[in-house]
Amino acid sequence: MKNWQDILRASITSPADLNEHFNIDITSLSKVAAAFPMRINPYYLQLIEKTGDPLWKQAVPDAAELLDPVCMEDPLGEEELSPVPNLVHKYPDRVLFLVSSQCAMYCRFCTRKRKVGTGKMSITPETIEAGLDYIRHHPQVREVLLSGGDPLLLPDSQIEYLLRELRRIPSVKVIRIGTRVPCTLPMRITPELVAMLKKYHPLYINTHFNHPAEITPESSAACGLLADGGIPMGCQTVLLKGVNDTPEIMRQLLLQLLEIRVKPYYLFQTDLTYGTNHFRTSTATGIKIMRSLIGHISGMAVPTFALDGPGGKGKIPLTPDYILTRGDNLVFENYRGEICTYPESGDGI
Ligand code: SF4
Repeated sequence: MKNWQDILRASITSPADLNEHFNIDITSLSKVAAAFPMRINPYYLQLIEKTGDPLWKQAVPDAAELLDPVCMEDPLGEEELSPVPNLVHKYPDRVLFLVSSQCAMYCRFCTRKRKVGTGKMSITPETIEAGLDYIRHHPQVREVLLSGGDPLLLPDSQIEYLLRELRRIPSVKVIRIGTRVPCTLPMRITPELVAMLKKYHPLYINTHFNHPAEITPESSAACGLLADGGIPMGCQTVLLKGVNDTPEIMRQLLLQLLEIRVKPYYLFQTDLTYGTNHFRTSTATGIKIMRSLIGHISGMAVPTFALDGPGGKGKIPLTPDYILTRGDNLVFENYRGEICTYPESGDGI
């Protein structure tokens, strides 16, 4: 099998190249790819079965990206919340540290599509040092989330440099890596990478699968390698119209994630990112899906459905409402719609 770098180098980066495999409107999609970069590596490409299927929608530019009437470039206000370039300090005790501008695939729904994979995202030795320095001088930061782009597209030596430097900071207790490569380029998860990562525990990885067709022998093996390295794995799924916005698809995805040792962590309502409006469902769709899951499948497979507040307001859980009335008795429905009553204790109200 080719190594991951060779697979990545063989990626399709223009609609004209895609036309060898599928019949598409090259002119219109080329305009989209000029605005928002395209990269589909050969591994992910062979998972796409036909035009318009759920994997196609995630990977292939769509004319709707340039016709977005609602959304904005930076809906989470990340640039405003960056005390130094490429580091977002939104919550008091944790920071988001962007350490790579590249991804194994450029997802069409990406929250950071304003800059990921483009010259607008400049990650240099200077920005890395400025980020590390900021963390060193802010001891309230106990958790660092390495993201990008995809941190695992960096060479092992650069990832190790970052982990080693972070581990030298006594106030940093937990390191998290956000990466989509277990799903989009699972060959990147090599035994050598895992052997290096496991030196820096407590280390967590949050990966990102959106559809059951992304769970393959290759992605299962990648997640297994990471889990065998003692790395707890979570999944941050995005609710995407036409991809996973039905109870049945979501149920299959979540249950299969548990089988490959990945704990569903978040299900995100799509952010208001310019160029992604065509992926947005109503929040009611997500709440209905959550209602179809809670109680019906293992609680371990049920993520938190959340909306990231526009303007950097933080994550807000969106939960189905089971409560009918409050008072001396709490009256609520259970997952089967049966009415239940729980007498309140009388304190604390
Ligand atoms: S892998 Fe993540 S950061 Fe990269 S394009 Fe996809 S969603 Fe965006």
